[in-house]
Amino acid sequence: MTRTKRPGGDKKRKFDATDERAAKRPNNTSEPIQHAAIAPTPPPETTAPEPTPIKSPTQPPPDLTAADKAHLKAYLDRTERPFAVLAIPASKKRKRSSASHQLVQDDLYDPRLTLQYEIKPFDKWSSLRKYKKFSVGSESIGCGECVLVKHTDETTGPIDYDAQWKARVLEIRALDQEHVYLRVAWLNRPEDLDIGRKRYHGKLELIPTNQLDIIDAMAVNGRIEVMHWDELVDDDVKAMPEEDQYFWRYTYDFVHTKSFSKLREICVCKTPQNPDELIVSCENKDCGQWMHTKCIAEAAVEPPTTNGNVKTPQKGVKAKKRASKVTTPTFSPDSRAVAIASSGDGEMTAEVFIKGQPKGPDVEASEKDEIVITDAAAARRTEKVLCLFCQSPLG
Ligand SMILES: [Zn+2]
Ligand SMILES: [Zn+2]
Repeated sequence: MTRTKRPGGDKKRKFDATDERAAKRPNNTSEPIQHAAIAPTPPPETTAPEPTPIKSPTQPPPDLTAADKAHLKAYLDRTERPFAVLAIPASKKRKRSSASHQLVQDDLYDPRLTLQYEIKPFDKWSSLRKYKKFSVGSESIGCGECVLVKHTDETTGPIDYDAQWKARVLEIRALDQEHVYLRVAWLNRPEDLDIGRKRYHGKLELIPTNQLDIIDAMAVNGRIEVMHWDELVDDDVKAMPEEDQYFWRYTYDFVHTKSFSKLREICVCKTPQNPDELIVSCENKDCGQWMHTKCIAEAAVEPPTTNGNVKTPQKGVKAKKRASKVTTPTFSPDSRAVAIASSGDGEMTAEVFIKGQPKGPDVEASEKDEIVITDAAAARRTEKVLCLFCQSPLG
């Protein structure tokens, strides 16, 4: 059978996914969060291991006098954003004054995201006691875990789960139950970054950054799991995110280079895989290339090349340009096709079927690999699924 790559989920599941997620939503009610309470057993600073490797030049003195505490509380109450994190670009010469406290964050998914930063005002930040956990409602959330962060004060109506901001908690500090602060690193959705959402981005793809912030724990709407997808693991479906699972596979260096880490490029179009869509690999051992099934559908409705030559990988770029005129018709959820494309004039439609796909308990899978082409007169013919690189038949 053709080697395919996509998590085990079936199409049906795709349509249930929103509801499944909603059921798991920690605060999926119209009730506002009352307060973000500190976990009942805060670890003493001296004996607890550091939850994150923070190289702090000074250990915070946790015991404040009553007057200091009242002073700090007044500051926190009157300041909307009491703390700021300033990233120190690598290029900037270290001008260390005695008052500056340069810290290092070096546990951010990818070593290239490591950064130096300062917190202002540092004296106030460091006089807050450090905790390993905090709680929201009945949920206890620790350092290193990922959270949903609301970005409006809207507390009525259902929470738009996917539109919530996402962040990873790096440090928890508090004065008391009403004053709990989190130092976080943001996880962006593709559409939140300049490049915007591309065709290869998964629906629930997040992009870790080294953009740090300090937020009020009251803004947290609950915990989420974010899995790492290593694209180079080809033969283990469990290595891939399910369609209802948040995941990350590459990072964005916000502080130093404003650049992304590399994604694996596949297929004649040399673009990454979208994990929500099926890719197939060529079984010819000399080839073994992975292809988007969507590109196979698009190639089937492209006008033939003028000299009649078969396409070669070198022509991949050209093929991609032509393919941009190809449209994607509405995909019927009942179809067993894994990809579909129409010619620009709408006269021809190609549906790609792959043996054993789609997978799922209530889905009837295709029995063989084939492309069904329907022309303007509604006449149907089938073609073999051929590798876009070496033209050998798949399956
Ligand atoms: Zn492709
Ligand atoms: Zn091939």
